[in-house]
Amino acid sequence: MSNPLSIYIHIPFCKRRCNYCDFVTYAGKAALIPDYLNALCIEIELTASRNHVTETVDTIYFGGGTPSILSIDQLATVLDQLRSTFTISNDAEVTIEVNPGDCDLAFATGIRQFGFNRVSLGMQSALDSELVMMGRRHTHADTQNAVASLKTTGFDNISLDLIFGYPCKSLSTWIESIQAALALNPQHISLYALSVEKRTPLAKQLKAGLFQPKEDSYFSDVYAKACELLESASFRHYEISNWSREKIFESRHNSKTWRLEPYLGFGVGAHGYYRGVRTQNLSSINGYIERLQYERKTGSKRFPAASIVRKQTNLEEQQNYMIFGLRQLEEGIDPSAFEMRFGITLEKAFCKPLERLLRQKAIHFLPNGNLVINRELAFVSNQIFVEFI
Ligand code: SF4
Repeated sequence: MSNPLSIYIHIPFCKRRCNYCDFVTYAGKAALIPDYLNALCIEIELTASRNHVTETVDTIYFGGGTPSILSIDQLATVLDQLRSTFTISNDAEVTIEVNPGDCDLAFATGIRQFGFNRVSLGMQSALDSELVMMGRRHTHADTQNAVASLKTTGFDNISLDLIFGYPCKSLSTWIESIQAALALNPQHISLYALSVEKRTPLAKQLKAGLFQPKEDSYFSDVYAKACELLESASFRHYEISNWSREKIFESRHNSKTWRLEPYLGFGVGAHGYYRGVRTQNLSSINGYIERLQYERKTGSKRFPAASIVRKQTNLEEQQNYMIFGLRQLEEGIDPSAFEMRFGITLEKAFCKPLERLLRQKAIHFLPNGNLVINRELAFVSNQIFVEFI
């Protein structure tokens, strides 16, 4: 029997662009939303029929951009399209990324009613002064109100996202943000290191000397502090950037991608991984809408919105299996699952890097036989991962 499938839906609209953002998203293009959603539904339908998808879907993730920019009716339209196209398991995890400023009681009630059961809130910081510097359009009071609304409407799986390493932040304000996040009593917390991307307002501000970039040691200090604070609040550090209160609150959607399980990505710029093929969709909204109209009438592409379609080689699959798998700090990699999937033992496939990393104590085998990286090295895990390439 084939593995259950995951689905990612990309909503590439934001009311305005945050200063650090380099994601595939557009501000000031809300007028395109109806045509975009129409194209999204066509993409879902064509992809399912052209690939003869029969797998059950067990996780759905609406990301962006800002999915919460859509009305409840618009979100329901996309969910209805998914429900009429795929078999979705009764206990599927259905996540939506939400901007705290968009989430009042009516919105929370609406998304709950239409089947979302997990919310990822883009908190980013608890200090309004930092949120302003980042160009976010919400306040910490918005985050507090959003969490209260979500809890009132019955959400019991809420994740908070925070960014560390932003130039205006300090270790003490970071501690304040973590403590404020914990005070909201979420089930899950994700912490992301800032990456300064070219052509963003932040890159220009740094170039103009308005801020000083943070040293590498600052990043490792704030990460270490976060690990300490979250651990003492009984959060489980199950993945490099992710903590959950209990195992049941781990992100099932993301955990499946770390285990190299299949997912279809729909929408502008969305990535997919299906039957050993990696795909990436067009990144222009207009190009996407036009392509789907063409594909519906006369096209025959297996992945109708993709600009990149690439069958993975066996070696690439094995390398990705190691790199994604080792991100999971508790689960790591099960050598027997590796052997079953690739028909070769882990030791044989990666003899030299394994020997070297074991000798350096960068990785070790757990009593259950799974291979994990040493937690103290989680923040510099990229240095471990390159060994497998
Ligand atoms: S809300 Fe998210 S996707 Fe939108 S501009 Fe800000 S960081 Fe980028």
